Amino acid sequence: MIEETIFSKIIRQEIPTPLLYQDDLVTAFRDITPKVSSHILIVPNKHIPTINDVTESDELTMGRMITVAKKLAKEEGIDEDGYRLIINCNDDGGQEVYHIHMHLLGGQRLGRMLSL
Ligand code: 5GP
Repeated sequence: MIEETIFSKIIRQEIPTPLLYQDDLVTAFRDITPKVSSHILIVPNKHIPTINDVTESDELTMGRMITVAKKLAKEEGIDEDGYRLIINCNDDGGQEVYHIHMHLLGGQRLGRMLSL
């Protein structure tokens, strides 16, 4: 059993964090250190450490993450101007928290896609 991260505690509200969205599959909340003016994390309720651990049984959850991102982008008022969705995987991908999360980033013009 791979150890849970702080995100599981946020999902269960053992660490009180304002939730922007929650249903039976996913939860969304603001990043604690926003990199842009709108920076939201969308996470599966189930602890899946990395994209490498996703299976076919997670397809509904992974799809829900996208539809929730779309809904929240609209609520944030950034849908028309645009935004970026990012999921980092493992060290080279820059992953810090080993519970899959999709970054929803927007509210300003984003720079180059990659900085190496
Ligand atoms: P990663 O680098 O793993 O893709 O992104 C992890 C993100 O989680 C970072 O942007 C970081 O600021 C955010 N984060 C880490 N700990 C917490 C926390 O306790 N609460 C919230 N809301 N965000 C967190």
